Amino acid sequence: MENDKVKIHDKQFKIFITKDEIRSRVNELGWEISKKYKDLNPVFVPILNGSFMFAADFVRACNFDSDMMFVKIKSYDGMESTGKINLELGFSGNIKDRHVIIIEDIIDTGNTLLEFIKETKTHQPASVTVVSLLLKPDAIKHDIPLDYIGYRIPNAFVVGYGLDYDDMGRTLPDIYQLDED
Ligand code: 5GP
Repeated sequence: MENDKVKIHDKQFKIFITKDEIRSRVNELGWEISKKYKDLNPVFVPILNGSFMFAADFVRACNFDSDMMFVKIKSYDGMESTGKINLELGFSGNIKDRHVIIIEDIIDTGNTLLEFIKETKTHQPASVTVVSLLLKPDAIKHDIPLDYIGYRIPNAFVVGYGLDYDDMGRTLPDIYQLDED
């Protein structure tokens, strides 16, 4: 049984999406995407760190041949100041003519993803699709085609299942939302 509330640093968080709910939604997403990618041998590209837990579950819910290349994008602040993303860890192999499935934990403004899609396309993949566990529809600022979304959530800050608050909370199996009460 998950805890209803957790304290991380100075803030209180309340349970938002349980691990059982996540498991069943991730399985649905895997089933949905498997219809399209069955014979395409795509490459999964999880964006570290936040998406590591979702990626591990999602790829096991997908029923097709594939491989993986992890990338790491340097902090958000850096990107806001320069308008460009900084890849701390880039593509480890060739993605030219490959079908790329980017795996993201959460899309907020969409800045990170928009820039990363542009970067990905410079390597001439056959196609680029995005799978994100979470999306904040009221925060997104860009028109990005999003075919596979786990949950559309309100703008409140969330932690757990890979997502951190100042380097803590990442390993929680459930997702918690900031408790403003
Ligand atoms: P965007 O570029 O879409 O504004 O932000 C995406 C990144 O911001 C995510 O990959 C994540 O690292 C971070 N982020 C946005 N919203 C949240 C949130 O509610 N909780 C956590 N832990 N990180 C978030």
